[in-house]
Amino acid sequence: EADAPIFRLENVVAGYAGTTVLRGVDLEAHEGEVVALLGANGAGKSTTCAVAAGDLPVTAGRVLLNGMDVTRWPAHRRVGQGVLLAPEGRGVFPGLTVEENLRTWLTDPEAVYERMPQLAARRTLAAGALSGGEQQLLTLAPALVRPPAVLIADEPSLGLAPLIVQQVFDIFAELRERGVALVLVEEKATEVLAVADRVAFMRLGRIIWTGPRSEVDGDRLTAAYLGVS
Ligand code: ATP
Repeated sequence: EADAPIFRLENVVAGYAGTTVLRGVDLEAHEGEVVALLGANGAGKSTTCAVAAGDLPVTAGRVLLNGMDVTRWPAHRRVGQGVLLAPEGRGVFPGLTVEENLRTWLTDPEAVYERMPQLAARRTLAAGALSGGEQQLLTLAPALVRPPAVLIADEPSLGLAPLIVQQVFDIFAELRERGVALVLVEEKATEVLAVADRVAFMRLGRIIWTGPRSEVDGDRLTAAYLGVS
């Protein structure tokens, strides 16, 4: 049906070597929707990203893409079907040049260079030599050329200069316009709340509240972070 989510985590339980971190996570994202996944340090946000991308197996629950069960799909197969993770700390190969990084995703990086002159000027530099912001742009650039079905970005603005944060959020706005489902994971709520359609608060491995951004006010935020909602 028209309002079926593109991407969905269903009662996901997962963790690391004997530690359960996610205790039944339900999260969904629709076409052209920005979902802000918010929660304090250690709530399980990055673990949720890892499960979504296929980097971490679930011990229970399902991962659905367009209604298809992809729970057992490895990460590369999910990427091929349009599930893209921009991991915390950027997703570039630091020893490869900017151009080589782009060519791992795209046969022709020119469209990226037209859109991002600062990457064009650095195309022969090692990606590891770029600023954090430029690395974030490099991570997100291929999505502009070949929009994924869902983009999950873990702490996309962490440590970036304000000007680049603006550029990064402009990219999110454009992808949303083009129908991409976005899950933006942040510890600090300010920037992401400005673009979110829906908000999901995470605490101790569960989504404790989800609803439209319009229902999130200061009290709701305080309650979510203090765990009294
Ligand atoms: P942060 O903002 O710190 O990344 P988060 O909400 O993303 O917080 P996670 O990184 O998912 O939270 O961490 C949730 C819990 O899982 C924490 O208790 C953390 O110590 C634990 N954890 C995370 N990664 C691992 C790992 N590789 N091995 C073992 N435990 C881990």
